[in-house]
Amino acid sequence: MQDAEIREIISAKSDPGLRPFIEAMSFTLTTQCWCGGALEYWSPEFELYLNCVSCGCKAVRFKPTLESLQRFYTSMYWYEYQTLHKRPSVDERYEGDMHDRIPQYIAWIKEIAPPPCNLLEIGSGNGRLLYELKQAGYDSVGVEMDKNLAEHVTKKTGVTVHHGEFPPGASQAYGIIVVIDVLEHVPDQIAFVQNIKSRLTEGGKVLVHCPVLDTMEASVDLRDAFNPLSHLWIHNSRSFAKLWQTVGLPVARLGEIFKMPIYRVGKI
Ligand SMILES: [Zn+2]
Repeated sequence: MQDAEIREIISAKSDPGLRPFIEAMSFTLTTQCWCGGALEYWSPEFELYLNCVSCGCKAVRFKPTLESLQRFYTSMYWYEYQTLHKRPSVDERYEGDMHDRIPQYIAWIKEIAPPPCNLLEIGSGNGRLLYELKQAGYDSVGVEMDKNLAEHVTKKTGVTVHHGEFPPGASQAYGIIVVIDVLEHVPDQIAFVQNIKSRLTEGGKVLVHCPVLDTMEASVDLRDAFNPLSHLWIHNSRSFAKLWQTVGLPVARLGEIFKMPIYRVGKI
């Protein structure tokens, strides 16, 4: 299938406001699930996603190329895309997050890995959680795909945020790695969890928050989770556990926030 044809299909089935972003990206067909399972038609409700016959994970039908994704996660994503969707900007989120999520996240993090502790947040975004965790006694560091945002947050919070998917080098081990609103964006799911595991201390834990949807009703209810430009995989509880099993880490559900479960990953 030609690129132009794919872009046409995605545009036809997406919010018209996404068209300029779709036009600037290239896509390839997703041929199999991250688990190796075959993909089948899922539902007329979600024509840009396929269902894995093996684990039930939902895979985006047309996957943006890595180069397109990298460009997407520059400031284009935070400033233009978020504005287009009438979502708060990075600096507005820095204030707003304190009211609706940070205290809850910190309570869970303290529960599974109390300070003092080396902590890594992957995809640290506006940096408010990192900043508050530092105040709470964690030795915190972040990574962020958007280079400008990484620099902005480092300056604003005094917490080091590296540009990239993981911190440079592999010698530092973390007692806790925080992965919020990230897993659904990651193209190579298995390589990602392997990399996380390699950076954990013995007994280290991972806090994960991402869409995990087990029924069609939940999927329709959280329709925004199915964003074909950046959400490549939508897990269910079975596929989520199966993914972490590939690196021998058990998962336990701690609770729920914004209609999505929050998990502790790692051996007790
Ligand atoms: Zn699968």
